[in-house]
Amino acid sequence: MKKHNFSAGPSILPPEVLLQASEAVLNFNDDNLSLLEISHRSKPFVDVMEKARALVLELLNLEGKGYKVLFLQGGASTQFLMVALNLLEKRAGYLNTGSWSDKAIAEAKIYDDIYEVASSKEAKYNYIPKGYDIPSDYDYFHCTSNNTIFGTQMKEFPKCSIPLICDMSSDIFSRQLDFTKFDLIYAGAQKNMGPAGTTLVVVKEDILGKVSRKIPSIMDYKVQISKSSMYNTPPVFAVYTSMLTLEWLKNLGGIQAIEKVNDIKARLMYSEIDLNPLFKGYASKGDRSFMNATFNLINDDLKETFDTMCREGGISGLNGHRSIGGYRASMYNALPLESVQVLVEIMSELETKA
Ligand SMILES: *Cc1c(COP(=O)(O)O)cnc(C)c1O
Repeated sequence: MKKHNFSAGPSILPPEVLLQASEAVLNFNDDNLSLLEISHRSKPFVDVMEKARALVLELLNLEGKGYKVLFLQGGASTQFLMVALNLLEKRAGYLNTGSWSDKAIAEAKIYDDIYEVASSKEAKYNYIPKGYDIPSDYDYFHCTSNNTIFGTQMKEFPKCSIPLICDMSSDIFSRQLDFTKFDLIYAGAQKNMGPAGTTLVVVKEDILGKVSRKIPSIMDYKVQISKSSMYNTPPVFAVYTSMLTLEWLKNLGGIQAIEKVNDIKARLMYSEIDLNPLFKGYASKGDRSFMNATFNLINDDLKETFDTMCREGGISGLNGHRSIGGYRASMYNALPLESVQVLVEIMSELETKA
């Protein structure tokens, strides 16, 4: 039986997507060739890329609003650098809510002084700072919507008059937002969209072309847009499998439908964490992530028993990130409610045993 996969990333994909993807590796489009051995410029693959782009705009409700969709390489980590290269002229503001924001700041600092508008670093990132000001003469404001490692999530985004840039790697397509508020969104595929190997970038075209520096072609959003993400050979398998996952989501009823399920999963998970006296949650309650629930055993002596029960129950990927330890239940779109139910049952069984 398939395990209950709570991995934080690369993470669970829908079984039907895995099946279709594996079939395409052997025989793509019934053409007796593998997806992996055809030209990325052939019509069948160009169609995949176009379809993936269209699905992104449709799901995010951004059609006809001046946005371009790119499927790039180098992970979200390359976007830390690319955002700064393409958009940073004088100064930018960053909200520091976790290790990923911290890394984004470090990369941008290569190009200029960065202003941290607020940070929760001193509290080991267990909450999302609020009530900060964003200077209106900055080039852009950067934030991270969901903090995969610490399990916090921005529930609101600041109103700002400058371009709003967001790393949505671990919660894109999981909840309804007014995506028109954002000028650039990026996300590594391997959390909530597909396999590792490609990074989604959705960018409002009119914010580009304003910096004076020379940008290397492969790092230049404008070049990538003009080449339809095919400035060089794109990661065909990752793009195809992401396209299948987006199609799966659309057929389920889109973000609106999946958000309801995600809500149920997260409420179930957190209510067990709160009601079970053996566990405590890591993140501040109002800022809890609906994608990554972080929690700890109050008494570490129970760790071995709990870990064994989890293993025997088919639970996988529950270890917390090495920087904070404890447990992390990642509940991405493809994780069925049933998996959360199984985990919660094990947690309450531990309570009766202990
Ligand atoms: C995983 C993650 C990253 C890093 O993604 P890579 O694709 O490995 O570079 C960046 N930001 C967030 C929020 C993440 O969860």
